[in-house]
Amino acid sequence: MLVKYEIKLKIIYTLGKRHRVGSYSQESTRYCNYSRDKFGNEITVIEPYFYVGTDNYDLWQASCKMAEKTYMELLGKGSSPQEARSVLPTCLKTEMAVTYNIREWRHFFALRCSAAAHPQMRQVAIPLLLLFADKLPGLFDGIKYDTAFPREHYAEVLLTDDMFNPLDAMNRG
Ligand SMILES: Cc1cc2nc3c(=O)[nH]c(=O)nc-3n(C[C@H](O)[C@H](O)[C@H](O)COP(=O)(O)OP(=O)(O)OC[C@H]3O[C@@H](n4cnc5c(N)ncnc54)[C@H](O)[C@@H]3O)c2cc1C
Repeated sequence: MLVKYEIKLKIIYTLGKRHRVGSYSQESTRYCNYSRDKFGNEITVIEPYFYVGTDNYDLWQASCKMAEKTYMELLGKGSSPQEARSVLPTCLKTEMAVTYNIREWRHFFALRCSAAAHPQMRQVAIPLLLLFADKLPGLFDGIKYDTAFPREHYAEVLLTDDMFNPLDAMNRG
């Protein structure tokens, strides 16, 4: 079992498929067979930062390992990935491509950066909001977020395309 110790967020990857005004593509556990070589013959899980260094960490890890073992056994006994996935944990790593318009990004940030949002959602959404506010201040500054969320747990945002580059070029102008 591979544990991802930090979330590295590509600009197109986020959570929150419940937002209706958007377009989503997500890695499918119906078709991905994690027993295959291309997945390293293991599942990959996201480490919940709030368990690190606590007594609950070992319990969480044991549960993931048990899920992985059962998943592999089910596949070995002829289950398909879409059947065996029913034992996979919610901390399973996934990849998702999302497209929102500006209005929906603002709505998404307002809901998902607030203290009411799940901590692992804030972990992803807050650094993304700060990036957007930095790059597009007229559109994204002033959106309230949970300033008490610990900075050391912010996901690392990796820019993988030219999304902000035309604006940078204009600013350098
Ligand atoms: C802190 C938090 C806790 C949550 N807890 C739960 C939970 O316990 N259970 C649960 O089921 N969900 C939960 N959700 C998800 C929530 O119910 C919504 O699915 C999510 O907020 C997205 O819906 P939305 O209406 O906010 O906006 P979006 O779907 O993102 O849409 C944006 C806006 O577009 C407009 N719009 C979208 N679709 C329509 C439409 N068909 N007709 C008219 N206008 C439309 C509305 O103005 C809407 O506000 C939670 C969300 C948050 C942020």
